[in-house]
Amino acid sequence: MADPFALRALLGPRAALCRRAITGEHGVSLPPLIDHHVHLHLIDADLLAPAGISGVVDLGGDPVVLARREKDGIPRVAYAGSFLTAVGGYPVGRPWAPPEISREISDPSTHPGVPGGAATAVDEQASFGASVIKVALNSADGPVLDAAALGAIVASARERGLPVVAHVQGDGMPQVALDAGVDVLAHTPFTEAVGRTLTRHAVRAGQLWISTLAIHRDDPQAAELARVNLAGFAAAGGRVLYGTDLGNGELPVGVNADEVAALDGAGVRGEALIDAMADPWPATAAPSGISTFVPGPPPTVLDEVAAWIAGATVVPTEELVHDEH
Ligand SMILES: [Zn+2]
Repeated sequence: MADPFALRALLGPRAALCRRAITGEHGVSLPPLIDHHVHLHLIDADLLAPAGISGVVDLGGDPVVLARREKDGIPRVAYAGSFLTAVGGYPVGRPWAPPEISREISDPSTHPGVPGGAATAVDEQASFGASVIKVALNSADGPVLDAAALGAIVASARERGLPVVAHVQGDGMPQVALDAGVDVLAHTPFTEAVGRTLTRHAVRAGQLWISTLAIHRDDPQAAELARVNLAGFAAAGGRVLYGTDLGNGELPVGVNADEVAALDGAGVRGEALIDAMADPWPATAAPSGISTFVPGPPPTVLDEVAAWIAGATVVPTEELVHDEH
């Protein structure tokens, strides 16, 4: 018989022993899990919920297609719409990035209705239902938005109450994002060691970092930079969001054991791991009426969590019967 106290000691108060009412199958319930960085146009979204993902944040897709999605489906979908980027900047022209998913900003105007204007691009995404704005700051791979254009995007997003998420890549880009007031990094910085000062300032500014550690499996140097950066950020009290960049290369659709293991390696484990995976951002509340169910005996040590949680699935909360304890 599994021990509920040991489980809570391991994963925090939101993990509970339970069974499914219909099948009688025993397991563990967790709050709904969110992948905070996906690209739905590159994956089969129907596979997400059976594999444990209750909500996703699409950080770069066609705003028209995203706006047509069913509103109350599972997984819950929040999205940025198009990437806002410099003229000729990342990801324009990438094989995985059709023209609809980028907007090239040629004018730092904060006025509406300006072709290539910063505010106009923000307005467009908002009008298609975006709840976050995505900017590309990738100096390793083409031109980057200048300070005026980036400032105008952030100001326009603020006016609409939308957080700004940045893809940062290349020397100094994490600092550029922080200075501009970017709210969230779409990837843990992986092209430089950001150092303690930037980390402290990012934490103090309330910046959130989406993990995406497992995308670097073929680049050990990037993987190590990202691990060290995230470990420092988490240790300094930074709010970490679980995210996989699902759609970027061959990644399993659903809870990604490699990402969980990499988070563990950065010190985001136990209750902190559940917090990173269950954070409702950019919403303020979790998807309602659904829970995560992980069948089978619970893990007994933290090293078992990654393999174990990959067995998660999404179920209606009412289907779960919590064991007495
Ligand atoms: Zn991405």
